[in-house]
Amino acid sequence: MEVAGVKLGAAEEVVRIVSNNQDNVIELFDVTKIYRMGEIEVAALAGVSLTVERGEMTAIMGPSGSGKSTMMNMLGCLDVPTSGEYMLDGENVGQMSDDRLAEIRNRKVGFIFQTFNLLPRLTAMANVELPLQYGNGHDRRERAFRALDQVGLADRVHHKPVELSGGQQGRVGIARALVKDPAILLADEPTGNLDTRSTQEIMWIIQQLNRQSGITVIIVTHEPDIAARAARVVTMRDGTILDDVRQEPDLVAEPV
Ligand code: ADP
Ligand code: MG
Repeated sequence: MEVAGVKLGAAEEVVRIVSNNQDNVIELFDVTKIYRMGEIEVAALAGVSLTVERGEMTAIMGPSGSGKSTMMNMLGCLDVPTSGEYMLDGENVGQMSDDRLAEIRNRKVGFIFQTFNLLPRLTAMANVELPLQYGNGHDRRERAFRALDQVGLADRVHHKPVELSGGQQGRVGIARALVKDPAILLADEPTGNLDTRSTQEIMWIIQQLNRQSGITVIIVTHEPDIAARAARVVTMRDGTILDDVRQEPDLVAEPV
């Protein structure tokens, strides 16, 4: 293939083919991830192609061992594919060096951790400021405040984690994932350890961020009532996508 008189290599051609839609924030093309354990090879991902549009909320389901976490690690730039292409927000991250990958991850990916990973001695504000290495103190505080405001915690910024409910601690974790204005928000079983009330609170916030602010969300879950809140459900089996359906999402009631 030749573009403007320049001959392209095979990899570049693939990239051109998969990357012509600006509205796609994620494009996976025939991605594999092979783990070698001595003599044995495990294809955690066995050829996955997936396109996610900006502003979509997608749930990933599937039995244990089907490749969900491997997929999330790939999407979150914690790992690179063994083969295949990955475009994230216009950047080809398929075969990047570790340094470049870390840089893209810091800029474009927000992770919501299952345990929220809050530092107990720091206030909500200081926890949310942590990912911000650059800018002066004033800028950092302002951005952290904005993120906390987005999750409805503007009146709790000086509280420490023990002074917050489980659901509020989750909101701080989400604010920290948001503070760098990432292209995608990823959550691997975010409510796995939470009681019903906190789960509802967290799912409400995530759905609000998606619907009001257009944030792209991908959430791994094995709970059908959580998947029901997404507009799209991708089901995995044996490292492949078995099913990919769009649906009318259940709206979560605002917790009282
Ligand atoms: P899920 O999150 O759906 O439970 P995973 O992505 O964690 O599935 O795992 C998919 C498959 O890849 C499993 O068979 C698992 O044992 C294997 N696997 C995952 N991570 C590793 C690793 N670091 N080394 C070797 N095998 C792995
Ligand atoms: Mg997993």
